[in-house]
Amino acid sequence: MQAPCPLGQYREASGYCVPVWVAVWDYSTHFFSNVSYDTWQSGQAEEGSAGRSPGDETNYALSVASETASFVANRPYWSDTCQKTLADIGISVADLPSGLTADPISRLQLAAGSVVFLDGTTSRAPLGDLYTNSAVPGLAALVPLQTVADVFAGSPGTRAMTELGGNRIWIRPSYFNQIGSGWAAAVVMHELVHNIIGLTDDDLARNLGITLVNGSRDITVRLLTDCLN
Ligand SMILES: [Zn+2]
Repeated sequence: MQAPCPLGQYREASGYCVPVWVAVWDYSTHFFSNVSYDTWQSGQAEEGSAGRSPGDETNYALSVASETASFVANRPYWSDTCQKTLADIGISVADLPSGLTADPISRLQLAAGSVVFLDGTTSRAPLGDLYTNSAVPGLAALVPLQTVADVFAGSPGTRAMTELGGNRIWIRPSYFNQIGSGWAAAVVMHELVHNIIGLTDDDLARNLGITLVNGSRDITVRLLTDCLN
C-alpha cells in the first residue's frame, strides 16, 4: 500500500500526488456505467427529464436538490451506525451559539437546513471561492484562475462541487435530474460534510480509514450504506 499523500495533496489513479483542488470535484462516473453519457445528458431516456427546456431542467434539478436537503434536515430517525460514521469522518460534537451542544447528526441536519444549491454549469463564481474557508490554510492560492462553470465544462464527469467550510453546493443539473432519491440523499450528505468540516475527499477517506478505489463515489456509498439503508 502506498504512503498517504501529504496534507493538501491527493493521489490520482495514476499514482501521483496532485494538489488538493483536484480532489474536491465529486465524480460519479461509474454510477451510470450502463448508460452512455450522451444518452442521459440529452434527457431522452431518463425518467422525468424528457422534453424539458434547459432552463426547466435546471430549475427541476435545483428543486430536487433542495427537497433532498429538506429530507435530510427533517428526517427523524438516524442509526447509531450513522452517528459513528459521521463522527469518524470528522464531524465533531460542537457547541452552538445558542448554547446547545450538537452531535454529528444534528450538525448535518443544521447544514442541510441552510445549504444553497447553484447551477455549476453556468456559475461565474471564482474557483478560489470554494477554498477560502478550507480547514487547510492557503488552498485558495493554489487554485487556477477559473470559474466554477469553466471546471464543469472541462470535466464532464464532475457532478457536484462544494464550498469547503461554507454553505454553497454547485450541481450539474443533468445529473441530479436522473438519480434516485436515495442516492441523491447520499450525494447531498457527502457535499454537506465538505461544507461542515472544510476538508477534501482525500482527508475524509483518511478519516474513514478507506482507500478511494472509485474516487469520491466511495465516500457517498459509505454514507448511503451507514445512514440511509
Ligand atoms: Zn467529496
